[in-house]
Amino acid sequence: MKYLGAHVSASGGVENAPVNANEIGAKAFALFTKNQRQWVSAPLTAKNIELFRENCLKYGYKPENILPHDSYLINLGHPEKEPLEKSRAAFLDEMQRCEQLGLDRLNFHPGSHLGQISEEESLKIIGESINITLEKTRCVAAVIENTSGQGSNLGYKFEHLRFIIDHVEDKSRVGVCLDTCHTFTAGYDILSPEGYESTFSKFDEIVGFKFLKGMHINDSMKALGSRVDRHDSIGKGFLGNEFFRRLMNDPRFDNIPLILETPEETIWAEEIALLYSYAV
Ligand SMILES: [Zn+2]
Ligand SMILES: [Zn+2]
Repeated sequence: MKYLGAHVSASGGVENAPVNANEIGAKAFALFTKNQRQWVSAPLTAKNIELFRENCLKYGYKPENILPHDSYLINLGHPEKEPLEKSRAAFLDEMQRCEQLGLDRLNFHPGSHLGQISEEESLKIIGESINITLEKTRCVAAVIENTSGQGSNLGYKFEHLRFIIDHVEDKSRVGVCLDTCHTFTAGYDILSPEGYESTFSKFDEIVGFKFLKGMHINDSMKALGSRVDRHDSIGKGFLGNEFFRRLMNDPRFDNIPLILETPEETIWAEEIALLYSYAV
């Protein structure tokens, strides 16, 4: 069974996210548990937490259908001590918010070396950042997202994801999220039927489907290997409808949150319905 949804607004309080998800016919959703462009936000209140849990129950969302996303400011692979510590503290806060809400995974972008250290050194720092955070929390898994590889962003190769996982002590609390737009623009041909097969078998070999805890379902405004991250609406970009039809009929993507981060919020309900119509 496919659990499709979108990254919905939590404005006015996290408890609004499940309501917004239900309105567009989503069976899964993503949210920010705090303002994603600020380092510090007010803690969740007991009321926020209670209402969030109530609304999830009311609309049938279980933790495994929900993929919270962390702040864009966090860089867990930062080469400098002070900003790294700031990032680690913010990441811990994000993890604790997820725990309070009863969620079981947190999606984040691995980090950037900023041209100051090697990819490998930065990847090691990311692994250490995850270990530090997992030690201080109990039930939430750290879900590493693959990237387009824009600028000095790491995570554009499956090998990067594997390297980080290898450096995480508690393998039961680490996972990955594949973004279809990022995968494609990072240089993996998922468009041709042969490319689709070989990319995902490579993923299975290098990372392993058992680590796949969610996906971002986006079309791409930019071409294969462009290393540029620009999401497009389903069927409107380089990937196109046939790719999404193939994905919707691929059982390897069952039972994980499949999240739209497409630019036209007003057509999310249509996009979800369209994608479900592809599943035979
Ligand atoms: Zn992301
Ligand atoms: Zn993106």
